[in-house]
Amino acid sequence: MQLRIHSHDNDNDNGDEPAAADAPRVSPPGDEPPLAAILEAWNEATLRLQQTHEALQSEVARLTDELAAKDKELARQNRLADLGRMASHVAHEVRNSLVPVNLYLSLLRRRLSDDPGSLSVLAKVEAGFTALDATVNDLLNFTAHREPQWRTFLVQDLVEEVLQSVAPQLEAQSIEVTLDVPPHTSATADREMLRRAVLNLVLNAIDVMPRGGDLVITSYDRRGGLELEIADSGPGVPEENLPRLVDPFFTTKPTGAGLGLSIVSRIAEAHGGRLAVMNCPEGGAAFTIELPPRRALGLAA
Ligand code: ADP
Repeated sequence: MQLRIHSHDNDNDNGDEPAAADAPRVSPPGDEPPLAAILEAWNEATLRLQQTHEALQSEVARLTDELAAKDKELARQNRLADLGRMASHVAHEVRNSLVPVNLYLSLLRRRLSDDPGSLSVLAKVEAGFTALDATVNDLLNFTAHREPQWRTFLVQDLVEEVLQSVAPQLEAQSIEVTLDVPPHTSATADREMLRRAVLNLVLNAIDVMPRGGDLVITSYDRRGGLELEIADSGPGVPEENLPRLVDPFFTTKPTGAGLGLSIVSRIAEAHGGRLAVMNCPEGGAAFTIELPPRRALGLAA
C-alpha cells in the first residue's frame, strides 16, 4: 500500500483560482519540513512495513511447513516403534518354535541317511528353514536397540572380511569387485554393527546383478568422519521407490523381508550419521554410509 502525492495544480476545471483551503501550505525555511518530504517519509515507512510484513508472512509459512513435516516424521516414528514392538514379539515367538524344529530336522536326516529320495525332500525343507531363520534374524536385528560399542579399526580389514564371507556368490555371479579404501583409513564405530551394514548393502548389490556386473566400494575421509560408498552396476532404483526404500518391510523382491536397508539406516543413525541413496549417472545405485566425526557427537575420540 503506497500513498500517492496528489498534485492539485490542474484540479480546477472551472479555471477559478484554487480555494484557500486547497492551496499547498508552504513552510517557512528552517521551520517544519515540507509536506512533500513528510509524505515521502510516510511512503518509505509504509513500504518498509509492507516488506517486513511480507517477510514475516513467508517466515510463518516456512515454519508452518516445517512443523507439518516434523509432525509427519513424529507420526512415522511412532508407527515404526509400534511395528518394531510387534515384529520383535513375532520374531521371538518364531525363534523359540524354530529351535526344536532344527533338532528334529537333524534327527530326521540321520534316520533317512540311506533313503536318497527322502533326503532330497528334506534338503528342500532345510533350505526353507534356513530362509526362515535368516528372516527371523533380520527381524531380531531390526528390533534390537543397542548402543554402539565404539572402537577404532581399519576399514579395509572390515570390508575385506565382508567380501570374503560372500566370495562364493560373487564368483558364481561373475561380479567384479573394486575396493578403493586406503589401507590406513580407520573408523571409530561399532565394528559389528558396521560389518552388518556393509554386508546388507553388498548382499543387495549381489541380488541386483544376477548376471554379473561391478561392485565398487569406496571410502572418503570427511574431516575425521567417514563415508563408505557401496555402488553397483545393477538397474538402479526407480525414482518412485526412492522415498520408501529404507522403510521397514518395503521390498520389491518376491521373498524379501524389506528390512535390510532399514537396518543399515538405523545403524548409521545410531552413530549419528545417515544412509544416503542415489542412482549413479552411469547406471546402477550407490548407497553411502555417512558417519560424522566422533567429536561431532560430543564423545571423546
Ligand atoms: P530386501 O532386500 O528384503 O528387499 P532391503 O531393505 O534390503 O530389503 O531393500 C529394499 C528394496 O530396496 C529392495 O527390495 C529393492 O527394491 C531396493 N534395493 C535395495 N538395494 C538395491 C540396489 N543395490 N539396487 C537397486 N535396488 C535396490
